[in-house]
Amino acid sequence: MNQYYTRLLPYLERNQAYQTALALLSWDAETLAPPAASDYTAKSIGILSEEAYHILTGDEVQTLLKKLDTKKKQETLTVSERAVVRLLQKEFEKLSCIPAKEYREFSELCANAQSVYCRAKQNASFEDFAPTLEQLIAYKRRFASYRAKKQDNLYDILLNDYEEGFTTKVLDDFFIRLRDTVVPLIKKVVSQKDSIPKEYNSRRFPIEQQRSFCRFLSGYLGFDFNRGVIAESEHPFTTSFHNHDVRITNHFYENNLESGIFSVIHETGHALYEMGVDDTITGTPAGSAISMGMHESQSRFYENMIGRSREFWEPLFPKLKETYPDTLSDVSLEDFISGINKAEPGPIRVEADELTYPLHILIRYELEKEIFNGTCNVSELPNLWNRKYEEYLGITPKSSAEGILQDIHWSMADFGYFPSYAIGSAVAAQIYNYMEQQIPLADYLKSGNMVPIREYLRDNIHKYGAVYPTNELLKKMTGEEFNPDYYIRYLTEKYTALYHELRS
Ligand code: ZN
Repeated sequence: MNQYYTRLLPYLERNQAYQTALALLSWDAETLAPPAASDYTAKSIGILSEEAYHILTGDEVQTLLKKLDTKKKQETLTVSERAVVRLLQKEFEKLSCIPAKEYREFSELCANAQSVYCRAKQNASFEDFAPTLEQLIAYKRRFASYRAKKQDNLYDILLNDYEEGFTTKVLDDFFIRLRDTVVPLIKKVVSQKDSIPKEYNSRRFPIEQQRSFCRFLSGYLGFDFNRGVIAESEHPFTTSFHNHDVRITNHFYENNLESGIFSVIHETGHALYEMGVDDTITGTPAGSAISMGMHESQSRFYENMIGRSREFWEPLFPKLKETYPDTLSDVSLEDFISGINKAEPGPIRVEADELTYPLHILIRYELEKEIFNGTCNVSELPNLWNRKYEEYLGITPKSSAEGILQDIHWSMADFGYFPSYAIGSAVAAQIYNYMEQQIPLADYLKSGNMVPIREYLRDNIHKYGAVYPTNELLKKMTGEEFNPDYYIRYLTEKYTALYHELRS
């Protein structure tokens, strides 16, 4: 092994230890920690973040990265080692331009901002969150400007942190196509909205039964309980410390059968990605998913392409009916399949169906662009939000809690993150299209055999962790880079068919 690379390893291990501690604190904050803990935990998070910052930006790491930054030295590294160096270099450049004190203050602010946000959301008062939001934006603006070269757009710098190469230019084209496809489709579907009855979904489904069915479902998809746990939180999410400790959460509503089911399928999709990373890169910067968009492609592949298909439910539906024998006695597999695919505009992103979902992302993207281009003030955001919901989805949120305050991301300073949700859906459609030609997907689903599907994804995506950038990975797998055509076609065909079926 290259001697400079060997000398980097202890720093990587120390960094991993701090990152694990930080991830564990935020997992705890979302699942079990009492509300009064948050201010004190924020302080610890500030200190641990500063320590991690020092590990990665210290002189020794800088010297070693420089030594490794020659073509000759790179040739002595394996493909994964080169990826580790590249990712570390990227992180180093991102962090080292920020003064340590500022970084710590920012980390503390983020940890505090989440409780401020939660209270503001409870009171449906955007004004309560606005001053904190302004501070967060100011920090992100400043941090981006430290890295900006002359002509750089600040929002592009933030976008690049989540999905390399997906600039506003690329995303503008993508979102315009999406908007022009989806908005007219929604109008058609809305005009037929009463044709799909799904009253069954809001009957009473005791939480204990939901919990046990969803756990079964996660295991059915391949969740490894030896390397993962499932807990509950306000909003379902996945966190991974490394590929031997992957955690997901779910949330159950007694009067909503679908919510828990599709959340657990979604989060299991995320978990399978992390669990499938190869052991040779565990604990290194390459030992986790390459990007948020790629991550989301895996969760959406399972949630939508697999989880909403008739083939998937053929072997599973009897088990679902057994779980609720009286409640679902009059519901057929056909009713259920139509119900889980029904599209209906609503104000909440996480409850959105497959068709209306990308418009929620488009709206957040347009707002973030305005924020970082300096074309709108924080105080104007709620009105702008409501106008866009009216324009694209034909609805007006009743309050800021179900409007602009619905999602936690901004309180975590995750600006530039949202587009990954739409990128992920498009990548999922691209992968699905390709996989259908490679393996008998439908047959596996009908026979309840999820193993070959999971193995295929592991061999082509999961095991590589962050070794290859998104476009390189997609090209390696499907023969082409990101191509939204498949997603546009998928949505058009699926919902046009649904619309025609409804008319006949
Ligand atoms: Zn997700």
